[in-house]
Amino acid sequence: MSNLDKYYINGEWVVPLSKTKMNVINPANEDSIGEIILANELDVNLAVAAAKSAFSSFSQTSKEERLKLLKALLEISKKRLPELAKVISLEMGAPMTMSLELQADAAVGHLEGYIEALINQQEREKLSNGDVQVREPVGICGLITPWNWPVNQIALKALPALAAGCTCILKPSEFTPLSSVMYSEMIHDAGFPPGVFNMIQGDGPLAGATLSKHPDIGMMSFTGSTRAGSSVSKDSANSIKRVALELGGKSPNIVFADCDLEERISGSIEECYINTGQSCDAPTRLLVERSCYKEVLKIAKRVGEAVKVGDPAQEGNHLGPLVSDIQFGRVQAMIEKGIKEGAKLLVGGLGKPDGFDEGYWVRPTIFADANNKMAIAQEEIFGPVLTIIPFDSEEEAIEIANDTPYGLAAYVQSGDLNRAERVAQKLRVGMVHINGGGFNYGSPFGGYKQSGNGREGGIIGIEDFQEVKTLHYPE
Ligand code: NAD
Repeated sequence: MSNLDKYYINGEWVVPLSKTKMNVINPANEDSIGEIILANELDVNLAVAAAKSAFSSFSQTSKEERLKLLKALLEISKKRLPELAKVISLEMGAPMTMSLELQADAAVGHLEGYIEALINQQEREKLSNGDVQVREPVGICGLITPWNWPVNQIALKALPALAAGCTCILKPSEFTPLSSVMYSEMIHDAGFPPGVFNMIQGDGPLAGATLSKHPDIGMMSFTGSTRAGSSVSKDSANSIKRVALELGGKSPNIVFADCDLEERISGSIEECYINTGQSCDAPTRLLVERSCYKEVLKIAKRVGEAVKVGDPAQEGNHLGPLVSDIQFGRVQAMIEKGIKEGAKLLVGGLGKPDGFDEGYWVRPTIFADANNKMAIAQEEIFGPVLTIIPFDSEEEAIEIANDTPYGLAAYVQSGDLNRAERVAQKLRVGMVHINGGGFNYGSPFGGYKQSGNGREGGIIGIEDFQEVKTLHYPE
């Protein structure tokens, strides 16, 4: 990929000032697929300066002008979808079918959602007291994204920033630089003016922290771990930036005995394992009503054992590898902890699957007879590891579900929709999936508690990137 060792600044691909190189690894076989340069402070400053000089004119563009640019990007996104899917699969190991249908598809889905939201948003509203409220772009935005859904996360930040009339600097994850280069090319080809969108490659402690501390940046939008999100907040505090955080999760999935057990347990395992378990909103704690517990374990064992891992370059519904050796080490350590804590290993376990010696492959794993105090029930594992915990009553299920520092998503399986909604109302989370209901583009995505404070998607996602100004007129 020709622009992998460059940054996109002020409408051009430029050679970085930094000389610090990082190897990009294919997680399926540990081969090198290229090199990036990790930005230093001077590189970050150049990107911010470009965004600053573009802000005065782009912030004054009309909604129609921005819609035209976003619609041009939509056509390009649709055309380049298969290429985008290929690079995502290569850089982070998502199998091709899933990479095309879910990972790359987010570039189109979210864009359609934001175009509709921008069309419907009232930028100027007359209040009942006669005053006028207008919405304006918040300013220059720093966007920091993770590797697990690389294009999905870029789209959820860059698109509402641009829709609102902000200018921005994207720092994608250093583990998934290929898709961010391709996405920057797409934005360039759509005709956004120079400096409106800029992209640098870099790590968190240097490039990410420099962005968060930069006095010219008005907002940081961050997706990643709760640990790094807390650093971004602290680094942003001195300059009183707006900070939007989308962080980790440990989502509960409450199974009542009156649901379609066969269908909902296999669906739940699939949802937990999708993207090899590397999703912030994965249903990783399966809370099961005691009266159907034995039956659920039987289904879970059969379904879990049938899950296959395989080459991400091949189509199919198998799982790919984890993204990196760091992630492999973390997941192994958590499986070891689960065993030591005394949870029952129902499926999988430590080590690599047979025949997958090179690459960051793990065995899809299920623990049963766990309790909610165990590390495997409290900590985000970020691998294909499911923890099953029994409960006796609706109240106890809600108590266990809410008993974590996170509050991103929850899942409820029940044949009684009144009960499902009653339970949903008591869960301290941003999203509740009932009986397999999936996420739809255009809806708000985000969490409570230590899962963050922002909402991405739809009108509320654009509002995150806007200031409100009130105009007072004489009576
Ligand atoms: P991470 O926090 O290690 O890195 C995320 C990004 O932050 C990367 O670009 C990294 O370079 C940067 N970063 C790291 N330290 C930083 C610092 N001190 N200052 C500024 N930037 C810094 O997370 P990850 O391993 O890439 O991604 C996995 C995490 O992301 C999981 O915890 C997952 O739950 C979370 N996530 C959350 C959502 C959501 O919407 N809630 C979506 C996807 C992923």
